Amino acid sequence: MMGENKWMGKRWEDMDTDVLVKIFKELNLVELSPVSQVCRLWRSACSDPLIWGTLDFGLLKSNFIQTRASPYIWVDDRSDKRLARILRVAMAISCGNVNCMIFHYNLFMKDEHLHFISERSPHLKRLVMPAWNRITKVAICQAIQRWQELESMTMPTIGHPPYIMEEIARSCKNFTELKIMGSFDQQFASAILQFLPKLKVLSLRCSKVSMDALQCLLNSMEYLEVLNISHCLLLVIAANGRKQVVHELDSQIFERASRLREFHYCQSRLCVACQRMVVDEGIMRWYRYEDWFWRRDEVRSLDLQDYGKLFDAGCERLTSVE
Ligand SMILES: [Zn+2]
Repeated sequence: MMGENKWMGKRWEDMDTDVLVKIFKELNLVELSPVSQVCRLWRSACSDPLIWGTLDFGLLKSNFIQTRASPYIWVDDRSDKRLARILRVAMAISCGNVNCMIFHYNLFMKDEHLHFISERSPHLKRLVMPAWNRITKVAICQAIQRWQELESMTMPTIGHPPYIMEEIARSCKNFTELKIMGSFDQQFASAILQFLPKLKVLSLRCSKVSMDALQCLLNSMEYLEVLNISHCLLLVIAANGRKQVVHELDSQIFERASRLREFHYCQSRLCVACQRMVVDEGIMRWYRYEDWFWRRDEVRSLDLQDYGKLFDAGCERLTSVE
């Protein structure tokens, strides 16, 4: 029959790209790598934005030990090399199509890693990088300068926040969302107010937050629409440096927060996250808890959900055996 002959004569190269992309979307990074080398058509299908929209390395961690001096961790050489290799493969196949990149809080990148990915992901809109210990100011600022389309970032607490806020304000005109993991003080709030006054979404979930900083946000951030202070340890810091935990917010705070579109707040002895926060004295020790715990957020756009397919448990296993 005609139809049959036509089918028999069809070659791989004639296959519809959409169909290929659908199939390749089910593969992980390790499986995609050889597939991308079959032919030009397959290579281009492998780099489709549908596959690379979110590059989730949430399962990839460094082998490290904590140290006393800055940067307070030491990472073994094999981890660094493995990370470089995985980033090389991912960036080569994705061809600049990554929109969102997620890293684990125990993955400690170096300047050279950051430099490499920022050069090869010009359209990045969202970055989740909860650990910066080994990254220099110069390197992070250079990366931000390259990511001009950046809209959203999850970052750790840092000692001197103004420089990074200033760089974001200068380079990323569409930046609206920020999540900070660790602690949030008056200095941080002032830096945001000074450089990112039009920020719309801020999450401090499970952080140690000073009441001064919270008041500063509520009083002065006119454009803020969404604020998450769920399970935070709220502190009043007296002039003599004494810290006192605030167990309940007063009505004035709630009144100010009522103009927000979303205000997420949870402070309860019955809440598991709040209990953990108290046990950990305000600096959440994420490694003690379920693997997904750090990825959650009450703000839907900041929630990382389950681990992505591209770098799944299969990749983690394969890349650790050498
Ligand atoms: Zn809670």
